[in-house]
Amino acid sequence: MILWWANILFGFKKKNKIGENIQGLFDENALSETALNNLMLGVFMLDKSGSIILSNFAGNQMIGYESKETKNKNYTNFIKITDAKGVLIESSINPIARNLIEGGKITTDKYFLSSRNNVLRPIGLVINEILDQAQKSKGTIVVLRDLTREKFLDQQRSDFISTASHEMRTPVAAIEGYLALALNEKMANIDEKARYYLEKAHASAERLGKLFQDLLNSAKAEDGRLQNNPEVIDIAEFLESLTSNMKFMAEKKGLNFEFLINASKDTSKEHYLVNVDKDRLGEIINNLYENAVKYTESGQITIGLTGNPKVVQLRVQDTGDGIPAEAIPHLFEKFYRADNSSTREIGGTGLGLYLAKEIVKLYDGRIWVESEIGKGSTFYINLPRINRS
Ligand code: ADP
Repeated sequence: MILWWANILFGFKKKNKIGENIQGLFDENALSETALNNLMLGVFMLDKSGSIILSNFAGNQMIGYESKETKNKNYTNFIKITDAKGVLIESSINPIARNLIEGGKITTDKYFLSSRNNVLRPIGLVINEILDQAQKSKGTIVVLRDLTREKFLDQQRSDFISTASHEMRTPVAAIEGYLALALNEKMANIDEKARYYLEKAHASAERLGKLFQDLLNSAKAEDGRLQNNPEVIDIAEFLESLTSNMKFMAEKKGLNFEFLINASKDTSKEHYLVNVDKDRLGEIINNLYENAVKYTESGQITIGLTGNPKVVQLRVQDTGDGIPAEAIPHLFEKFYRADNSSTREIGGTGLGLYLAKEIVKLYDGRIWVESEIGKGSTFYINLPRINRS
């Protein structure tokens, strides 16, 4: 019996040559049990009704019970999945309960485990339906990974980045301010050469300030400290309020600007309600728009809004150089900048799209890009639509 479970877990196959040899040397049950108990991961096997059939040493340690106390009892009293405050997760969204009903595989590191003594630890969960040879569901394997140390290190790293970028922002802002004063004709007399150098220094100080701000925001996004006060807003109205500045930015670079709702220019018809923090959404749209302008030499930038009863879809479309196919999977990673002539010339931090992805995640949305070299890029954001009758 134990070997059967271990086969599922570790992929031991009777036909496997190494497996055969090992089985020749050792008692197969003892071997699988030792392997299971020496794992750093907690493993629980549940039958279809949710009773614990088997558990390993690490799993028992995490929940604070011994195997003999839990065997053949329902998992709910022992594997207590909670939120960060230790409040039990409702059964309708509890991933183990869901897996027992829906089957398949669930992977998540959103939850916490509360032990017998109410010790709370962040956990990674992999929950996998067990199928027999006739593909009939037999139950579920729950694998738990203690993320306490990982989260602690993440927190330390993110605290360091926050403090460092916060401290560095202040002197950089002062440098930027003094350079601006030196460049102001009413405040200082400088010759043309000095102006040229100071302008370069001012642009670099500005860029450094933006880098620190982006670093601070990405550290905050990672540990959930990003200010987020969602409210229901009409995204069509919100976009409308940004269009005059957008038009100005585009026209300054000789680009056309268009704002389309449902593929038409009439912006007055439908309501597109979403539940978001306006400041956060504004940051994402600004970043996408600034990128579109930055990476487009000629043509048009289009802001589009459309939707169906469930989703509102926003798009920022440009007629720029486009993004190489091999860069697309990495675009939303931290510090990633596609390596091409325009990014070498144009300043940037490589954090804007990463931050956009983190913010969109806060609202259960999705962000992605479609792009073709020489034709341009379109960034899409889908957000859940709020329906009000
Ligand atoms: P950056 O500060 O470098 O603009 P982002 O995270 O906003 O950082 O974007 C990451 C990279 O994605 C950019 O460096 C650029 O290579 C590419 N990129 C983003 N938007 C566009 C666009 N509209 N057209 C072409 N490339 C883009």
